[in-house]
Amino acid sequence: MKINFIDLQAQYKKYEKEINSEVLEVFASAQFIGGEKLNSLEKNLAVYTGAKHAIGCSSGTDALLLALMALDVGVGDEVITTPFTFIATAEVVALLGAKSVFVDIDEESYNIDPSKIEAAITKKTKAIIPVSLYGQCADMKAINDIAKKHNITVIEDACQSFGATYRGKKSCNLSTISCTSFFPSKPLGAYGDGGAIFTDNDELATKMRMLLNHGQNERYKHKYIGINGRLDAVQAAILNVKLKHFEEEVRLRDEIGSRYSDLLEDADVITPNIADGNTSVYAQYSIRVKNREAMVEKLSALGVPTAVHYPVPLHMQEAFKDLGYNIGDFPISELVSKEIMSLPMSAYLSEAEQDFVVQAIKG
Ligand SMILES: *Cc1c(COP(=O)(O)O)cnc(C)c1O
Repeated sequence: MKINFIDLQAQYKKYEKEINSEVLEVFASAQFIGGEKLNSLEKNLAVYTGAKHAIGCSSGTDALLLALMALDVGVGDEVITTPFTFIATAEVVALLGAKSVFVDIDEESYNIDPSKIEAAITKKTKAIIPVSLYGQCADMKAINDIAKKHNITVIEDACQSFGATYRGKKSCNLSTISCTSFFPSKPLGAYGDGGAIFTDNDELATKMRMLLNHGQNERYKHKYIGINGRLDAVQAAILNVKLKHFEEEVRLRDEIGSRYSDLLEDADVITPNIADGNTSVYAQYSIRVKNREAMVEKLSALGVPTAVHYPVPLHMQEAFKDLGYNIGDFPISELVSKEIMSLPMSAYLSEAEQDFVVQAIKG
């Protein structure tokens, strides 16, 4: 059996007519940047998440960068986040000349451990970026409470959690600013790069809209130093189609994720722990195994693709050596990075495929 890690072709087949017709409309209109498709996507994203403002941008990375720029984060500032994430979360901090201060993760959720945040706060702390990893939100209430007490802004890195809920509220509407990614393999994926920023704050929204368009408030009037961080109309058109069907995909992902966990209950692996009151979109369905290399090889020999998110925590990356961290500083991140592996996952994984993956793991 040939199994895809993520089946984007099956998804395209399903929405092919709608996507083609939307994209052809953009071609015919020649409105490639901004315009009606983008406006309509932004409205739909705001309605979907419940956030007052949804702002399309060029990627999840740029969404995070723009959020920090809007808060004037720069040289001398510190930003708290976790070392167990994709590099983009901390990369943007470094690009602005600020310093990432890492806090270890919770061993159940793999998200930042709120009980360890206060010890990392200093006078220089400007923001906290909790990452809602694998599609499950971080403990946003606990994090927001701490941030409020210390007058720090919270930016949810929701690049993997668009569609997830936390205590009945949608990811991307749980903190002052939220950032998501529409990279093709994310739960809501474009056909290229894309992202969005969410906020209820009018001033921040206006500023981020300017920042992503070279800091302009009108053409050739530049109030800020910004970037070219726009989302193009073709991507917006495609995302609009996929967003229409997204709630159904979220339901399927939840079913498939839960089914994996049921089937793997008696296997010698640790399955995802979804906290009470949370739903996950399973951007990744990731399990922990004691001898990962052997498991990866065994599955690969049977034609089951896997991936590791993420094998090296950020404090152990050469790019961050100047932060001065050592091996052993974040023991839970280090442990999980040695044991974690992701299984094939998409709304289109069939029961037969899933059974095959499970049998391969158990066999
Ligand atoms: C994918 C991802 C990003 C970056 O998103 P891009 O759209 O690829 O720039 C940032 N943070 C996390 C946690 C991600 O998974």
